[in-house]
Amino acid sequence: MSTFSRALPPARRTVQPTGHTSREDVAAATEQFDKTLSWLRFPAALEHQFVNDSAARRLRYFLLSGLLSLFVFNGFLLVDYLMAPDVFWLAVKIRVGLFTPFAIIALLSVWLKRHSMSPQTSTLVGECLVLVSGSFAAACLAYILSNSHATTSQYYHVGLMVVIMYGNMVQRLRFWYAVAFSLTVYLIHLGGVMMVPAFNPRLNLPMALLIGATMVFTLMANYALERDERRQYLLSLRRKHLLQDLGEVQQRLQQLSRMDTLTGLFNRRHFQQYLEQTWQRAQYDQAPVAVLMLDVDHFKQYNDRYGHPVGDQCLMQVAQAMQDSLRRPGDLVARYGGEEFIAVLPGADKDTAHQAAERIREAIIKLGIRHEASATAPMVTASIGVVSCRAREGVQEQDLIAAADSALYKAKQAGRNQVLSLSL
Ligand code: GH3
Ligand code: MG
Ligand code: MG
Repeated sequence: MSTFSRALPPARRTVQPTGHTSREDVAAATEQFDKTLSWLRFPAALEHQFVNDSAARRLRYFLLSGLLSLFVFNGFLLVDYLMAPDVFWLAVKIRVGLFTPFAIIALLSVWLKRHSMSPQTSTLVGECLVLVSGSFAAACLAYILSNSHATTSQYYHVGLMVVIMYGNMVQRLRFWYAVAFSLTVYLIHLGGVMMVPAFNPRLNLPMALLIGATMVFTLMANYALERDERRQYLLSLRRKHLLQDLGEVQQRLQQLSRMDTLTGLFNRRHFQQYLEQTWQRAQYDQAPVAVLMLDVDHFKQYNDRYGHPVGDQCLMQVAQAMQDSLRRPGDLVARYGGEEFIAVLPGADKDTAHQAAERIREAIIKLGIRHEASATAPMVTASIGVVSCRAREGVQEQDLIAAADSALYKAKQAGRNQVLSLSL
């Protein structure tokens, strides 16, 4: 049986967060990121999820751009040849014979192990790989130049700007790794120039400033990029949360549009849909379908005597009694309007439906709700019209409702507090 006919679940008071992040974490992090300066770190749980969510994509990017950068690194042999021709073969040995195998082995082993590492580990490994290989590349250049006596080699140290750009902008190391990387390369530059035999001391300051400026600018850009990436991530989480909320609200509204607020039963609209479906289904196997229409007797007098709020209480009790008396899968009770209730009993023939209606009528009497103004009995009673019909061509579900209504009318005519059944 579908949930279509079951009682409605209670409304959830608060929308629970899903996944690892709560809405509070995201709101706190968003507020922090809206400030001018941020430490580029989320609260612990959110940071953990951020790393998890970005690890695979980030590692793939590290490895791919690492491989491409290796070609560029070796392409600098042409610059070695033009600016430090006396150490060209040394450059070939270091670039092709030393750095390239190191980089390939490092890239390959991280690539092969990528699935066995946790996202947190793979991110750490990726950052360290870039940091170490970038610093190693810088050291290689500094070493090559420290062996050259060519006058042009002293200008070649600005090549370290390319290395800084590689780590901070191409690989986009996380900001604090980028700071560590830039400082390492800068120190390699400061130490390296002292070892260049042909180095003109007058170049010391301008070069330090050029490389320093590159470092500062690329770090600024790196900071802005990471901040944007983190902001985008927060936005995507908020979007996800909003969509979840919207889905839940939509679901709740749909439930409410099918409910009667006073009794908690389904309403007439839902009943019509359900009856239509039941009737269609029953037509396949020519099964019977029964409809019960119940009307509280002398309810106007009840209201007049005890007041409208007490009348409401009475309707709630009658609704509950009716619901409790029909527990077969597929049975559905609804408030049809005012003090009228309706039920559909799929598969119920005339006798079964009549018995069910009798159960309901007795259950209402058993409630023992005092009704001194009733001309029928000293307590609240109800009349019930019943119709059962084998589903077949030419009969519409509306015909069942009309027949149940006329059976109810006859029950009223016959003196109320009774069940009257009809066949179609
Ligand atoms: P009968 O035995 O022939 O059914 O007589 P009746 O008085 O029950 O029927 P009638 O149609 O004359 O009156 C129905 C009354 O039900 C009138 C209306 O005020 C009352 N009623 C309808 N909806 C509600 C409701 O939501 N709450 C309350 N308290 N009363 C309601
Ligand atoms: Mg009525
Ligand atoms: Mg009535």
